[in-house]
Amino acid sequence: PSPPPSVVAAPAPSTGGAPSARLFANIDTLADLDALDPAQVDGVGLVRTEFLLPSAAEALDEECHLARYRRILDRLAGRPVTLRMLDVGGDKALPGLVEGSPASVLGERGVRFLIAHPDLARLQARALLRAAAFGPVSVLLPMVTLPSERAAMAQLFDEEAARLERQGIAVARPPLGIMVEVPAVALTLDMFTDAAFFSVGTNDLMQYLAAAARDNPAVAHLYAGAETAMFRLLEHIATTARGLGRPVSLCGDIAGEPAALGRLVGMGLRDLSVAPSRLPALRAALGPRSEA
Ligand code: PEP
Ligand code: MG
Repeated sequence: PSPPPSVVAAPAPSTGGAPSARLFANIDTLADLDALDPAQVDGVGLVRTEFLLPSAAEALDEECHLARYRRILDRLAGRPVTLRMLDVGGDKALPGLVEGSPASVLGERGVRFLIAHPDLARLQARALLRAAAFGPVSVLLPMVTLPSERAAMAQLFDEEAARLERQGIAVARPPLGIMVEVPAVALTLDMFTDAAFFSVGTNDLMQYLAAAARDNPAVAHLYAGAETAMFRLLEHIATTARGLGRPVSLCGDIAGEPAALGRLVGMGLRDLSVAPSRLPALRAALGPRSEA
C-alpha cells in the first residue's frame, strides 16, 4: 500500500489577513484525546507515547500500544496522527523500566534508549506498523543526534514489517521522521535527507542551546534568554528543510504562544502542534479552520 500522507504533506491554505497556519494537537494522555474536538484541528502532530503508556506493564504490551493508537486514529476520523516513539530517560521516567534523572538529560534518552533496548523498540515498531494499517500514521523519532540513529530505526522497522507480513498480519509503512531538538541536528539537517519529515522540539532545543535545564527554576532566566539563539536556529531549520523539500512542523511549547505566531509563520513554520489548552487562543488568532 502507498504510505499514508505525512502530517505536513500540503502547504497551509492562505486565509487572507490572518496568519496562515495549520493547527495540530499534542496528545499526552487518553484524557487529552477525549477532551479534544477533532473538528478544531488538522490532526495530531505529536503523541507522547511515553505518557500514553506510562508504566512498564503498558509499554511492554504490544496489544496495549495498538489499542491506544487505534483509539486515537478512530477519534481523529481520518485526520493525520503523528506518533512519537517512547522518549524515556532524561526527565521522563517509565516506572519499572527506567528512572528519570537530571544526569540522563545528556545521556541515554529517546532514540538512544530505544537503540540500547531493541526488544522494546521492536515491540513498539510492530504496534506502529500494525496501527498504520488502520489510518494515516506518521512515526517520529525523539532525541536523534546522528543520521545513523535514524537509519538503525528504519532498518528495525523494515525487519519487523517483514516479520509481520510473513505472519500474515496487516501492516503499512508509516513515514519516519525525526525530532529536531538536539542542536547538532538543527545545524546538520542537510545530512538527514532520508528523514521523511522534521518536527522541531523547542523545549529541548532551548534547554540544550542554553545549557539550562527546562525544569530548573534557578536557571529559568537563562532558558528564556536563549530565545534569540533559538529563533536564529529556527530560521536556519526552516530554510534548510525547504531546500530539502521536506515538511517541517513545530511541536514545542513555543508553537502555542500567540505572540510567536507571526514570527513562526513568517519564517515558513506553518504547521504548529500545540497542547490542547493552547488551541482556543491560537484558533482565535488564526481564524476558523478551513478544510483543505
Ligand atoms: C520538545 O522537546 O520541544 C518536545 C516537543 O518534546 P518533549 O517536550 O516531549 O520533550
Ligand atoms: Mg523533547
